[in-house]
Amino acid sequence: MIYHGSCHCGRVAFALEGAVKTAMSRDCSLCARKGVRLSAVSTERFTLLTAPEASTAYHFDGHAVVHRFCKTCGVQPYSEHVAEGVIYINLNCIDSVDGRAIDSAPISERAA
Ligand SMILES: [Zn+2]
Repeated sequence: MIYHGSCHCGRVAFALEGAVKTAMSRDCSLCARKGVRLSAVSTERFTLLTAPEASTAYHFDGHAVVHRFCKTCGVQPYSEHVAEGVIYINLNCIDSVDGRAIDSAPISERAA
């Protein structure tokens, strides 16, 4: 299965291969403020379909995770943890998926 997702304006779009099963149950301080629900997947499952320059980055937590958000509409479609090879998908940005309806799982089950 291939999912497609994007920010609000569509300038940042991605494809995600495989099932989306769980959301992380422990939101970070940034995601809690934004109301973002994330699901961790391996980088091999993620393909950025638009120009990397369409997004900009926000770093905190020792700069380990790069939070990507659209320069135009401000929506954060994904974040990346390069050292761990993990992409955190914003479930609310995936077409045909209701991010609120996906069950949460312990953070230890991430990166399926
Ligand atoms: Zn946008």
